[in-house]
Order: sequence, then C-alpha cells, then structure tokens
Amino acid sequence: MKFFCILCVLCGFASAALALEREAFIISKYDLEIRVEPEQQRLGARGKITLRNDSAHPQKIVALQISSSLNWRSIRVEGKAVQFVSQPYTSDIDHTGALSEAIVTLPLEIKPKDFVDLEIGYEGVIPLDTTRLTRVGIPEGIAKHTSWDQISPSFTAVRGAGYVAWYPITTESADFSEGNSLFEVVDRWKAREAQAGMEINLCAQFTESTVLRIVMNEPPRKNGSGGGYDHHTCSGYRFETLGTVTPTFAIAEYVNQSKAPLNLDSLPGHEAGAATYSNALEPAMKFVSGWFGQPSAEVTIADFADPNSAPFESGTLLMASLAAEDSKLAGINLVHELVHSALPSSRPWVYEGLAHFAEAMYRQEQGGRQAALDFLGLHRAAFLDSEKEVSAAPEKKVGQPLAVTFDETYYRSKAAYVWWMLRDMTGDDALKEAIRKYRAEDDNDKAPKYVEQLIEAASKRDLSWFFDDWVYRDRGLPDFHVQSVHPWKTEKGVQFITVTLENLGSAGAEVPFTIIFEGGEITKRIEVRAKATATTRVELPGTATQIVVNDGSVPESDVTNNVFKISAP
Ligand SMILES: [Zn+2]
Repeated sequence: MKFFCILCVLCGFASAALALEREAFIISKYDLEIRVEPEQQRLGARGKITLRNDSAHPQKIVALQISSSLNWRSIRVEGKAVQFVSQPYTSDIDHTGALSEAIVTLPLEIKPKDFVDLEIGYEGVIPLDTTRLTRVGIPEGIAKHTSWDQISPSFTAVRGAGYVAWYPITTESADFSEGNSLFEVVDRWKAREAQAGMEINLCAQFTESTVLRIVMNEPPRKNGSGGGYDHHTCSGYRFETLGTVTPTFAIAEYVNQSKAPLNLDSLPGHEAGAATYSNALEPAMKFVSGWFGQPSAEVTIADFADPNSAPFESGTLLMASLAAEDSKLAGINLVHELVHSALPSSRPWVYEGLAHFAEAMYRQEQGGRQAALDFLGLHRAAFLDSEKEVSAAPEKKVGQPLAVTFDETYYRSKAAYVWWMLRDMTGDDALKEAIRKYRAEDDNDKAPKYVEQLIEAASKRDLSWFFDDWVYRDRGLPDFHVQSVHPWKTEKGVQFITVTLENLGSAGAEVPFTIIFEGGEITKRIEVRAKATATTRVELPGTATQIVVNDGSVPESDVTNNVFKISAP
C-alpha cells in the first residue's frame, strides 16, 4: 500500500515537476535551532526561514531540499501546516548524492520579489558518507579523507551546502560526473545566497564523562539557550551575510588555547602539534602586522580526529590536522588566518586573494623567491584549464571576472597571482601603503575601481589595463615567447642585445625575462600588453646564449615556448 501511494504521488507530480522552477526562490534569512546528539549521530532542526521569489513569475510551489539522511517533519505558514510531498532528489551537492526534497504548496501565490516565512522542522542522522565520490570511481579509503563530514560520538564536523545540506537549500540537480555541473550549481547557490543572513543556535548533547566544545566559522555571539539535555552546551551564531562562507560546525573534546586573536582547538594527543602552532604565532603575527595591519578579529584553527582529513577553510575557520609537527605549514596556515583577522572584506578576491598571497610572501621570507613561486605554482593547475577555455573561445564569455566571481579556484588561486603580480609591478612599499589604506566599507559597488585607485595612487602608475585584463574581466591568460633577438657590439666592444617579446594571449602583464650569458645572467622586466609585442635593449658583460621568459610569477597558458636559444653568430 505504501509503495502504491508513493507511486501515485510521484505520478501525480510528474507533470508538476516538469514545470517546477527549483531555483525560483532564494532563502534570504535562516533562524534555526539545531540540536546535535553525537551518540546517536543525530541532528534535529526547527526554526524559521524567509524565502524570496527571485523569478520573474508568481510562484505557488517551493522545492526545499535537505540532505537525504534527514527527513522533513513539519512545514507551516503563519502557524498552519501546509501541504507538502517529500521525495528523494538525486544531486551531488550533498555527500550522500541525494537530497530529501519537500515540494511545498503555499497557501498563496508569491509575487516576484515578495517574501514568505516558513516554520520548518526536520531531523535525521549525518553519518560519514562517501557515495557521491565512490560512485564516480574514487576508492572508499581515499574518498573518506575528503568527504569527512559526519556526526559521531568521538568527532563531529559538518560543512554546509556543497557538502552536507544540514540547512535547507533550493537548487537544481548537480552531477559530479558531468564536467563542471556540481561546481556550477554550488557557485550559483553561493552567489544567490551571498546576501542571506543566518542565525544558528547550536546545542550539543554529551555524556557525563566528556565535555564537548562547539566551533563554527563565525565567533559565537552569545551562549546559546535551551538544549534540554542533562549535559549539553549551546552557542549562538549570527552570519550578517553569508558572502562566500559555507556554514560549518565541529563538535569535539577540543582543548582550547586562546591567544587573541587566535583560537586554537586541538584534540587530546596532539599537544606537540598544537605547540608547533603556538610557537609559530609570534613571527606570523609580526609578519602580518607589517603588511596588513594589526590582526584583531577572532579566528579559529580546529583539529581533525583523522590526521589524513583534507584541510578545509571557510570564513574565519580553518580545519586542519594538528597531529603533525610541521612548523612551515603551521606558519603559513597562521599567516592566512591572521590576514583574515587583520583585513576583513566582503570582496572574495580581496579577502581570500590577499590571504593566499600572504602565504606565498611568507614562503619567500623563509625560503626565497623560488620557494614562493613553487608555492604559487601549486595554485596554477586549479584555474589553468578553465582559463584555456576562455582563451580558446572568448566569444563564449565563459570567463569569471575576479571582481565578481564565486568560484573558489578564481578568488583564491588566480587572485593570489594577481596580488603577486601587483607587488612585482609596484614594489613592497607602494602595495603596503595601498593595503594600509584599504577599508572594507569603502570597497562597495559605488566605487568599483576602489582597489585599482588605491594602488595607482600609492605607486603613481597607470594600472587600468592590468585591472581590465585580470580583475574586471576574464580574458584568459597571457602566452609569451621571444619573437626576435639582435645581439650587437659598440665600437668600444660593449655588448648589447635587443629583445622583442610577443604576448599571444588576451591578457597583458609585466613579465620578467632572464638573459643567460657566458659567466652569468641578468633579469629584466617588461610590460607586454595583450596580443602585442614589446622591445627592449639590455647591456651585457658577455655573449648571450639563452633567454628564459617568465620565472613563474605570471600565470601563462603555455610555458613550452618560454626558452629561446641564441645561436652563435
Ligand atoms: Zn581564507
């Protein structure tokens, strides 16, 4: 009978589902009470969400989605239960590879831009689940290190949309196996939700013998209320606007060492690793203060129970294993979080770009420029392929302008390079001055060229072409090669070489090139605009044998044509 009813419902909805606009509504505000019972791996939620019709048509049907291991219990509008049908919806946006979708019929049609409040309740379990990775062929043993989200008696850590839909979302299906489908759906969801507010009162139950601590990627605003358990802890959190943040919580027997602005939450047994971080704090603070101002806002680094878990960072929380005693890693992790503490910004390419750029600069301080460029090189693969697509078909407009992108690989990895190039072009003093003058509240839509103007004022250099090619638009990457060389000698025997570089790409850059001659080498920099050439003359103490364009500081689409051998005259 039950099967029959489900069948009726599915058939009945088959026609409606065709017309269902799953992304018509955004959720503009969340106000949720979350109860976590680690012993049972259970999560229960109730509260209120506000939806806004972002489509061009009136809407009467809403599709609300949560992880498939959770179940809808109640949905009410103005105190009255509303009709809804719950169905599984296949989507790789959740670690289980599916969502529990409630198709809700609202009592009234909601006009475009109008709001409706829903009181909701749902509950279920969140165990470790690697389904979406194993079904595309990733071995379980590897998948569990990236898909680590779970509620469990010993360790709980759960990331939000894109990993686990522990709060409701409204999305079209995402498919891991279909190119970029998953990332497109997640990035679109994040962009739609960037202005949404979220209030969470999170309570965790624990047994008599353990004391648990809750961390989230926002400092707690207050001691949470309620809970209703004999042994429990509650904390209240408020995200004014989500921006690029993926709301994430972790609950464990954390030992908290707080040394403002850093909260270090380590697990028992990882004392030596935690001490590595404590020891690295002072030099990291000094370095960050010198570039970005005094770190003051609270940031958190929280430990993993499984030391093989892949690190994750969102907002002011970094989750990274503290099991190892790696002082180099501790240093750059601290630098990254302290930059967030010192320099808040709602612009992802500024907020995350500067933090990754600072990591590279810190590597330079410890190991020289090549170490920093090697570090940046690890970021290049992240955006190289999509930039090649942009270069191959600029008319498709598939690019992701840094200024507005919600794609992590761009606002983290590409942005790190952009800040590095700006530093190489303008020098430490000018860039420091620009960063010191940066105020997040001034960096809004009223002044879209705010960052450019700060750096131009400090460096007294026109950078509009650079910002146009790298920040305001995505024109792909440059592709440099030596077009021609002309060695010559003055009558007195002084050797010169005239070098012409060509940029085949659609983004210009100032690129370093090194001339290798008998007995040494010399490096110069030259600005080569998009689809253009630039020529310069260099005096040499010996005969040039080879020219190498780009030391790796400018991301390029093709580096196979960067070495030019000069044949003997
Ligand atoms: Zn960050």
